[in-house]
Amino acid sequence: MDKVLLVTGSSRGIGAATALLAASQGYRICINYLSDHTAAEGVCQQIRALGATAMAVQADVSNEDEIMRLFARIDAEFGPVTHLVNNAASISQSCRVDDMSEFRLLKIMMSNVVGPMLCTKHALLRMSKRHGGQGGSIVNVSSIAARLGSPNEYVDYAASKGALDTFTIGLAKEVAAEGVRVNAVRPGYIHTDFHALSGDPFRVSKLEGGLPMGRGGTADEVAQAIVWLLSDQASYATGTFIDLGGGR
Ligand code: NAP
Repeated sequence: MDKVLLVTGSSRGIGAATALLAASQGYRICINYLSDHTAAEGVCQQIRALGATAMAVQADVSNEDEIMRLFARIDAEFGPVTHLVNNAASISQSCRVDDMSEFRLLKIMMSNVVGPMLCTKHALLRMSKRHGGQGGSIVNVSSIAARLGSPNEYVDYAASKGALDTFTIGLAKEVAAEGVRVNAVRPGYIHTDFHALSGDPFRVSKLEGGLPMGRGGTADEVAQAIVWLLSDQASYATGTFIDLGGGR
């Protein structure tokens, strides 16, 4: 099978680490990003330097029209997507639920729940044997927050990842007989720029001392699990979760 991988939100952080690790495993890789074209092109250049094929496509993956444009572009350049990592997500400033606006809640559910579900829909139309595809593999990037709930910080974000977990469980069973595996990773405190969005870019450094392992994780440590779940090495794994929380 020609392997075509889409990693949403892969211009930096966990998405970029995943794409770079996958570069040595025979995928043609689409780097998706929201706004940082220079960073996305930089990841593509690193992938090409490793001898693999990559292209960067801007698309807001919380919007179905943009998702359809993204998949059509991949169809035209690489062929149909066979592997998908639903990685792009957002988070808002820390606050209590009493202070959360309707706009904030809708935005987070669109980017963290509806977006991954719609990307999955358009991937299944290409991967599933029910639709004439050759099968495939999907990995959802959830969070330890789905288990812990993130009180007084971002219960909305935690709940969005809880929804993604339930989606993973149900979808895995729905498409298991169609050649498509669906799994998830749940990272804990990972050193990326994501935390600046919640108002504290130094969050991991401040909190990592309280973790059982005493340190935050790296994007590459999460990527290792994602790339394994994506691969045929994980051929009997579906509906499963790998927690990467340093013991949290
Ligand atoms: P990051 O460094 O902030 O990177 C986010 C990436 O997503 C960027 O490439 C960004 O593109 C892209 N993006 C954001 N919204 C998008 C949209 N609507 N459409 C397309 N692309 C979009 O984040 P990260 O830390 O690597 O997080 C990746 C995943 O891990 C997320 O699902 C997050 O919830 C999860 N996670 C992270 C941690 C952690 O501690 N970092 C812990 C648990 C779970 P631009 O650069 O163009 O804006």
